[in-house]
Amino acid sequence: SFGANIVPQAPEDPLFGLMAAFRRDTDPKKVDLGIGAYRDNNAKPWVLPVVKKADDLLRQDPNLNHEYLPIAGLADFTTASQKLIFGADSPALKEKRVVSLQTISGTGAVHLGAAFLAKFYNPSNSEAKTIYVSNPTWANHNQIFSNVKLPIKNYPYFSAETKGLDFKGMVQTIEQAPESSVILLHACAHNPTGVDPTQDQWKEIASLMKSKSQFPFFDCAYQGFASGDLNKDAWAIRYFVEQGFEMFVAQSYAKNFGLYGERAGCFHFVTGPASEAADTAVRVGSQLAILQRSEISNPPAYGARIASVILNDDKLFAEWEENLREMSGRIISMRKALKAKLDELQTPGNWDHIINQIGMFSFTGLTEKQVLKIRADDHVYMTKNGRISMAGLNTNNVEYFAKAVDKVVR
Ligand code: PLP
Repeated sequence: SFGANIVPQAPEDPLFGLMAAFRRDTDPKKVDLGIGAYRDNNAKPWVLPVVKKADDLLRQDPNLNHEYLPIAGLADFTTASQKLIFGADSPALKEKRVVSLQTISGTGAVHLGAAFLAKFYNPSNSEAKTIYVSNPTWANHNQIFSNVKLPIKNYPYFSAETKGLDFKGMVQTIEQAPESSVILLHACAHNPTGVDPTQDQWKEIASLMKSKSQFPFFDCAYQGFASGDLNKDAWAIRYFVEQGFEMFVAQSYAKNFGLYGERAGCFHFVTGPASEAADTAVRVGSQLAILQRSEISNPPAYGARIASVILNDDKLFAEWEENLREMSGRIISMRKALKAKLDELQTPGNWDHIINQIGMFSFTGLTEKQVLKIRADDHVYMTKNGRISMAGLNTNNVEYFAKAVDKVVR
């Protein structure tokens, strides 16, 4: 039987555990800066107005049914997703060098790539069969890759000193990594640090990886959330495609459409320009389909339908861009407000990183001890590594939070 010696009790997921603790807290002043989900200025979940519109349109459709989608998902959705992330005029798309499957949001896309690597990625140097992830990274990366038994190593990413990118550490490790290793890269708005390479730094990373025939695996969970501009946030991915890499891209619509629970996402395989490229894409696609079929059979329909309605209609697309700018704009204004409050309080330390970091998160630099103290004393919930979801701040609680930080660092 599955005794405790065979199946030990697993710890609770730290992030979902934090959410549960927040819900249990009865203090009216409590502040939730844990989960990476957008909140409006009243700390409420926000259904994007354009998503509401698409939802209404779908519900009015008398032909809507609950049939299975194909194994690769809704074609209108995956085609529009390709255009969104690679650019409508991408040569990779014109040359049919991309194959895409709809997945269970970004997590499912990362997992599908992981399962494919575990099965087919057998470099002649077995040392190279390793995926390098940033330290720190989204906690689930480690679980997803270890579940498929893909060896994981870290590359340095965050400098505790500057609270910015440890670019030197990052490139040194990539340089020392064996040829053909897989390198996982956050396309934009790095989770949990909010720190991204500059375009010049991306160019250096690409050139280094090219010289070592390494394989980029982009995880893109925040397109449009970092800068508010969908094209700008896809820049790194498009640059790598331009450089002729063969690569994976995991794309999530959880944050940028606010479709968290609907699980809409996409996995893309891109191969470099070569005479047999289109054949490679077809072959790889056939194997991805087998993996998909054995694991989920076919993806869930409704979230992808909503995204597809918006992505394929110019007017709704423009409205979406407006909604995205509202979300990213509110987050940026909260960064400024928090920094201004900390300046006003003359809180010890340098807090420039609050405005320099981008996207949904800020890596505050608070220690675990301080995080636990703020939770106990002031009912503010953030992850133990000091990450805060900027979207949890609003004009009603930013001063309260700044004061709590001020108290704990003195
Ligand atoms: N990748 C990163 C870096 C993330 O931060 C997230 C969500 O937090 C995801 C992937 C996937 O999220 P989902 O499965 O909800 O799309």
